[in-house]
Amino acid sequence: MTGSTTLDTSKEFLNQLITTTPDGERIRLCLQCGACSGACPFGFVMKYPPHGMIAALRAGMLDDLVGTDTSWMCVSCYACTQVCPAKIPVTAGLTTRVKEEEMLLTGKVPSELQDALEKAQRYDNPLGESPRKRAEWASGLKPEVTIMARAKRPVDVLWFVGDYASYHARVIQSTIALARILQALDVDFGILGPEEVSDGDSVRLAGETGLFEMLAEKNAKAFDKYEFNEIITTDPHAFNAIRNEYPHLEISYPIRHYTQFLAERLDQLEKLINNRIEATVVFHDPCYLGRVNGIFEEPRQLLQAIPGIELMEMSHNRENSLCCGGGGGGMWLDGFQWEIAGVRISEWRVREAISAVGSENGKDTEVSRERILAIACPYESPRFEDATKTVPGAESLLVKDIAELLAESMGVEG
Ligand code: SF4
Ligand code: SF4
Repeated sequence: MTGSTTLDTSKEFLNQLITTTPDGERIRLCLQCGACSGACPFGFVMKYPPHGMIAALRAGMLDDLVGTDTSWMCVSCYACTQVCPAKIPVTAGLTTRVKEEEMLLTGKVPSELQDALEKAQRYDNPLGESPRKRAEWASGLKPEVTIMARAKRPVDVLWFVGDYASYHARVIQSTIALARILQALDVDFGILGPEEVSDGDSVRLAGETGLFEMLAEKNAKAFDKYEFNEIITTDPHAFNAIRNEYPHLEISYPIRHYTQFLAERLDQLEKLINNRIEATVVFHDPCYLGRVNGIFEEPRQLLQAIPGIELMEMSHNRENSLCCGGGGGGMWLDGFQWEIAGVRISEWRVREAISAVGSENGKDTEVSRERILAIACPYESPRFEDATKTVPGAESLLVKDIAELLAESMGVEG
């Protein structure tokens, strides 16, 4: 082990979790039923799955716990927290805190994650992109997208675009689609462009609380400079951070996910829809939109408003949705987790999608209809599109953001 310990024993660490986490005292009520570990997508490869973490801490085995790869297999999906009969805040109060402690005690962080954290520290985003390029996706769009520092005027809606939606080539297609929809709806919106930094939620969930706080303070400084009525965001992690975590730092702004904002304008949207999309569609509930924040219906209402779409459900849906594997640092742990587990959660999800919509060669296939895995989170299009290339029968499954589908039905895409 390297570094110095901040707590003398694992029992002191456990006591710290109990006393400093909201609802942390519930950890004392752990029944060791194992439901958390059964729900955990990577529980089967963890030496200490969630119930085992609690048992290890009770037994004074913190050193052994942080000496394993257990915490880096956690993608912070909240499935354990969702099923816990004792209502223990397993993800916020245990797995995230163990990651944080492991960084302090051992300094041992998988190299891909370390690289992303260093980039977030240096460039304010984990992709290591230049802050100056944050609004490049909007260059050339007509009408122009308002950038707050240039426009120097109040707007109704501040759009917090997010890292992957600003920089990732595939995800930018959904970002442009949403810009087109907002313009078609005559929404008075602006973006921060170079003044926006990473929301920091995944950095926080990966155990880097200090870096998260620094990023939050930078965003708060930018929010403070401008006048707007509300914030919307493309990214469920930005939504979660600004809604639930920034207020702990005394940064409070009203925020909604874009699916909530658009669902409220369904009447107006329906009048703008011109095209049918003949497709069988399943929707993947993002963990931090659905399970963590309870937004399940609005994305489905938007999909059902598009004529031609038949909406089906995957076996894991709503509260029981299966993580894409990208949250909580998972976006930067793919290689590490593959080496340990030999599977990708995104591939499981694509298999579920195929079994719900029918595979190319399945008996229930209707050749003329598209099969679509609909998403509402910028982490997911690259992850699921990669998985369609490796899962047998998934080659023709399309992965599309709800914004892309809506823009297509409105004839405003591109
Ligand atoms: S589900 Fe809750 S009560 Fe059961 S073992 Fe896990 S943490 Fe303990
Ligand atoms: S948050 Fe998800 S990945 Fe992490 S321990 Fe809980 S169920 Fe497992």
